[in-house]
Amino acid sequence: MQLLTIECFEGPREAIAWCRELAAQGLSLGFVPTMGALHEGHQNLVRQAALENDRVCVSIFVNPLQFGESLDLESYPRDFTGDAKLLNEAGCHMAFTGTLPEFFPGRLDERGGLLPEYLLDPGPCAEGLEGEYRVGHFEGVATIVGRFFEILKPKRAYFGQKDYQQALVVRDLARNMDGPEVVICTTHREPSGMAFSSRNTRLSESEYAAGMFISRALFGARALWNQGQRDPAVLARHMQAVLKQGDLFVEYAAVRDPEEWNGSEPVGELQHAVALIAARAGDVRLIDNMLLSSTTPAGA
Ligand code: AMP
Repeated sequence: MQLLTIECFEGPREAIAWCRELAAQGLSLGFVPTMGALHEGHQNLVRQAALENDRVCVSIFVNPLQFGESLDLESYPRDFTGDAKLLNEAGCHMAFTGTLPEFFPGRLDERGGLLPEYLLDPGPCAEGLEGEYRVGHFEGVATIVGRFFEILKPKRAYFGQKDYQQALVVRDLARNMDGPEVVICTTHREPSGMAFSSRNTRLSESEYAAGMFISRALFGARALWNQGQRDPAVLARHMQAVLKQGDLFVEYAAVRDPEEWNGSEPVGELQHAVALIAARAGDVRLIDNMLLSSTTPAGA
């Protein structure tokens, strides 16, 4: 049995003090924001952060600001004890959680919501796809991530390519606030090809089987790209055809130019491309994406 050496804090106060102490000692901090229900994908982010920094800190916070549907927020899986074990194993030094009032003291209205003037603008990369289907989601992401950057002052922050558009949004946010270096880590997949996701635990066997068509469609698009297909409309149609074979409700299956993020489908042949899918298997919403060209994720 592995000894638990990780420090766990239930609120931001101790976490902030811990980070200040590190800074005073001249030690570098790598930060990995998460919503908990951790898996190997999160562990990979922590491992990379541990390689590149003196210390690693992880936040575990199911951020209500980024959930439009309250059912989705309530049913989001939570397992703090299991999370601490996985983080410890991956080399994380400190994990903390907290509540909205603790993270935003004096910035909430009487009903506990964040006052609108404290919501951060997620910028142009929030346009289209996730931004369209989850209205307000990226404002919520930018606001909490920006707040964490502000209070913890990490040297580097680690995000998964799995949430591609989010990675673009936080990269811009960090640049604008003179924040940490944003490191984007490749998507970690199950042997089946399915991307690891906290939401996978909520899938029944048949929903999992349906969800598999998402990665199949993405790998299919990449195969077409490798054969020389550069038309985004053709690539998107191919993905839609594959997705039709599964019992899924498809929100989007789209191709974008990662160098020039745009809310709408690019026209003409692409030099750089990323394929992105969002679909529901039962009531579980799944997203995944794949870089078709060999550009580094989000140009990081
Ligand atoms: P979440 O807890 O889902 O908000 O995810 C926290 C971080 O882990 C985000 O930066 C995600 O993009 C990243 N992440 C989630 N799943 C994966 C995965 N399968 N591979 C790599 N990173 C991931």
